[in-house]
Amino acid sequence: MNILVTGGAGYIGSITCVQLIEAGHRPVILDSLVNAKAAVLGRIAQVSGIQPSFMEGDVRNKALLVQVLHDHKIDAVIHFAGLKAVGESVDHPLRYYDNNVQGTLVLIDAMNQVGVKTLVFSSSATVYAPSHDMPLHEASVKGASSPYGRSKWMVEEILADVVASDPSWSMTALRYFNPVGAHPSGLMGEDPQGVPNNLMPFIAQLAVGQRSVLRVFGNDYETPDGTGVRDYIHVMDLADGHLAALQHAHGRAGHHVFNLGSGQGHSVLEMLATFAQACGKSLLHEFAPRRSGDLAAFWADASLAEKVLGWRVRRSLQAMCEDTWRWQSQNPKGYTS
Ligand code: NAD
Ligand code: UDP
Repeated sequence: MNILVTGGAGYIGSITCVQLIEAGHRPVILDSLVNAKAAVLGRIAQVSGIQPSFMEGDVRNKALLVQVLHDHKIDAVIHFAGLKAVGESVDHPLRYYDNNVQGTLVLIDAMNQVGVKTLVFSSSATVYAPSHDMPLHEASVKGASSPYGRSKWMVEEILADVVASDPSWSMTALRYFNPVGAHPSGLMGEDPQGVPNNLMPFIAQLAVGQRSVLRVFGNDYETPDGTGVRDYIHVMDLADGHLAALQHAHGRAGHHVFNLGSGQGHSVLEMLATFAQACGKSLLHEFAPRRSGDLAAFWADASLAEKVLGWRVRRSLQAMCEDTWRWQSQNPKGYTS
């Protein structure tokens, strides 16, 4: 299939492009490069042997989308493009609604005009309401606690409404838990701008000496070691989840929603210890107050994806850390090195 991958120069999108190519598909990337570097395109080619077509542009540009969908005879779209920093979304909510919600509206409009009716959307576990009732399954109570999370939930509701109005659409929302890791080649991985907010890229930068100490936000949670617990998923497993979702969606109209997670929680200290083992260094940490808005623990019930898509995670926490370390140690400055 010819697949338009919006946000395909980003962390998850670029690695998904490699997996698409390996599965025999032709990805076409549309990315504004607002949070990516063009150098990733050469890496996709290096890893997969094929450099996908690339358009630098914004998903809010309908004319461009119509042209790309038409000229590349696109069969389906995977929509990664969006802004993703939870804290920034609190300070700049309109930026998030414009990019994430309006961007998707324009995309759907363009797809409708060209007659491309299969869409796979990057949603997030942030759509769920804070809860002590674990694991989270697709029907768990919704209630995002940031504009970012709400933008994802709004899009999910829009997708459902569009399918209800025109049942020939196939709309799939994939709710990612905590994507980490890198391509096992060490050539592709996460390249955050500035000081990473997320745990894994921070630990990776600590391991190469770019950070001096990990501040562990809270050690008095009701978790086995008192630190926060999350469901980490290897980005390669996540990419494979998109392939499974695409295969399921193509030619199967309707509205589909799946959690993509491992179904297991790991604590901050467990992550740090596993990473230390992977890189062979001891990594400094200190306990700091809880981070505002953080939950103690959440993880996925990923059984629906296994049942319907035949997908489940295959890569371990060790693999997540080893692959991240290979990427970070070989590319300490990310794609600019
Ligand atoms: P990323 O920032 O690396 O990738 C997003 C890409 O979209 C970037 O390359 C950026 O340049 C591009 N982009 C942003 N706005 C655009 C626009 N208006 N037009 C065209 N391109 C645009 O992020 P990622 O981690 O690869 O995440 C991909 C998707 O998955 C996002 O939608 C994100 O919200 C979602 N998601 C990510 C996580 C995570 O922890 N990484 C978790 C849940 C959901
Ligand atoms: N965390 C931490 N120090 C950091 C970054 C994160 O202790 O510098 C903790 C955070 O409190 C949470 C876990 O690591 O318990 C995962 O945080 P991340 O931001 O990666 O994911 P999210 O909280 O958005 O699921």
